[in-house]
Amino acid sequence: MPLHESESIVLKTYNLAEADRIALFLTRETGIVRGVAKGSRRLHSKFGSALEPFSIVNLEYFQKDERELVSIQKAELVVSSFEAASEPPFLRVFARFADLITVFAQPNLPAPLLYRMLRALIIIAAEKDADLTAIELYFEVWLLRIEGFLPDWSVCARCGREFDPVEAAELDADDRLQCTRCSVKGRRPIAPGVRNTLLRILRLSPAEFLTDVESHREILRELSAIVFKMLSQAAGPNQAKATARPNI
Ligand SMILES: [Zn+2]
Repeated sequence: MPLHESESIVLKTYNLAEADRIALFLTRETGIVRGVAKGSRRLHSKFGSALEPFSIVNLEYFQKDERELVSIQKAELVVSSFEAASEPPFLRVFARFADLITVFAQPNLPAPLLYRMLRALIIIAAEKDADLTAIELYFEVWLLRIEGFLPDWSVCARCGREFDPVEAAELDADDRLQCTRCSVKGRRPIAPGVRNTLLRILRLSPAEFLTDVESHREILRELSAIVFKMLSQAAGPNQAKATARPNI
């Protein structure tokens, strides 16, 4: 039985029997991994507070085969989110991210981009007065992109022409954009600022994006509504609970 090592993010834990817990991780090397942490509910457990949700840990586990729970040997704290996760708004937002990741990502499939994004967002959201609404939008756009559900908003979906940065566009029924030359009456117009904001999210790190959100509130709200619809459609009606945005 090989020993695996990977930096990982704790997504959720469930109590199992008297002394054990099941923990769900997003690992840097192999995506989602579920495992049993034996004795982790005991008072002086070797895991300490490392299995608190959204902790970033160095994880060691044995894995027999991919269908079974792994056996967690060690979880060493790299970044504690204990303080941030005691704030209800942080907890609600990140618990939803954990739900969305389990809806979209396949277990045991490497997801390095998803890992890097979530890691960066946890660290930035733990800062004082972090903008959780903008963080949600950033996460949702990237989740759609990583899982292949985000339409390419840099070009017209009909004629393939690249949009000019100041050009208005129109939203079609599949949430793709078409240029005004390909226009069909009755479509919803999309201002260049809304399109450019989505493209900026794809280009910028979370920290870069968050430095300049205050002056774009209205645009963020409009983009956020469209992205939420994309996400709900991609997840399907059975996942309405996971996609619903919390009140923060
Ligand atoms: Zn066109």
